[in-house]
Amino acid sequence: MAQLNIQHIDKIYDNNVQAVFDFNLDVKDGELIVLVGPSGCGKSTTLRMIAGLEDISAGHLLLDGKDITQAPAKDRDMAMVFQNYALYGHMTIYENMAFSLTLRKENPNVIHKKVLAAAEILGLSSQLNKKPSQLSGGQRQRVAMGRSIVRNPKVFLFDEPLSNLDAKLRGATRREILLLHKRLKATMLYVTHDQTEALTLADRIVCMSMGHVQQVGTPLELYDSPANKFVASFIGLPPMNFFNATVREGFLEGKGFKVALDASERALLMPYAGKEIDLGVRPENVLTEGDIPMKVFSNENLGMNTLVHGHIGGVEAVSNKISAKFRGWCDYKDGDQTTVGFGRKHFFDKETGVAIGREDKA
Ligand code: ADP
Repeated sequence: MAQLNIQHIDKIYDNNVQAVFDFNLDVKDGELIVLVGPSGCGKSTTLRMIAGLEDISAGHLLLDGKDITQAPAKDRDMAMVFQNYALYGHMTIYENMAFSLTLRKENPNVIHKKVLAAAEILGLSSQLNKKPSQLSGGQRQRVAMGRSIVRNPKVFLFDEPLSNLDAKLRGATRREILLLHKRLKATMLYVTHDQTEALTLADRIVCMSMGHVQQVGTPLELYDSPANKFVASFIGLPPMNFFNATVREGFLEGKGFKVALDASERALLMPYAGKEIDLGVRPENVLTEGDIPMKVFSNENLGMNTLVHGHIGGVEAVSNKISAKFRGWCDYKDGDQTTVGFGRKHFFDKETGVAIGREDKA
């Protein structure tokens, strides 16, 4: 059992920089939570406060109902896996994995069993006599995880564990972490700036910007119903397109385009009649069928898909730029004129950036 209640936590550093504002989250037993956001948004600070590596300036932290806000890191029963692995170069892999248990003066037979079991889970059984320098980056990362597993902590904390790996290894190690989570059924908090990692790993994502939580939800909730423009543009790759649009009777009008609204969209936008809003359309929701003129300026073939970039409505302005993700191999040339349509649409209040219809929930 490991439930974590993070209640109204703030972090103000000594130089008066406030890095985290009123962070609230109830982490369920066995849940994998991913904190995601751009560099400097306060993710690592939050994780480090949970680990006990930074003081909590205000608020409370409870582990299984017990207040551990002031508890020293060593008494929190949590294990952290860092980006740089932090392995001891002069020790073997076995010694690295056994280290924390040796420090605690555990019975050598117990240590031996635990190290072998962790090595088995992580596919490191044949590497135990080697030194870290003899292993690949991915294997070193697994040793760092092994070191956490042997401690059998209540909570695993990961701080950007994959950022030192190349793209291919990142994908493979990500899947290993997912398998590990399934196997251990452990409570895990994972920090990353990479939205793909967040979408693929998380039971629930916490998306942050400038020290504030923007939205908490399942990957699908954040992808399909982003709470605001920030989340809409951060989750999803390539990012969502945004256009200025005015709400008219039954349709939306922007520079060089008019799109019809269905009954539920009309109802949603009723309070905005005659006003300007931000219209968001994901590249994968731009359709090849439609009557919106688009002038192409770039065609990127990705194999399965083609990213086509252009301007809509015959106006070559930044506000009219559009990226479309079309299925299959396309061969648009610079300057080609085509037409597109908008599938799933997202609407945002121009002043607050909040998704229209979610104001009450924000
Ligand atoms: P992230 O992990 O999202 O990249 P951090 O939590 O590391 O962000 O940092 C959040 C903010 O806190 C940043 O503005 C950063 O400059 C500031 N910060 C981080 N560590 C310290 C520190 N030790 N002293 C003062 N400010 C810090």
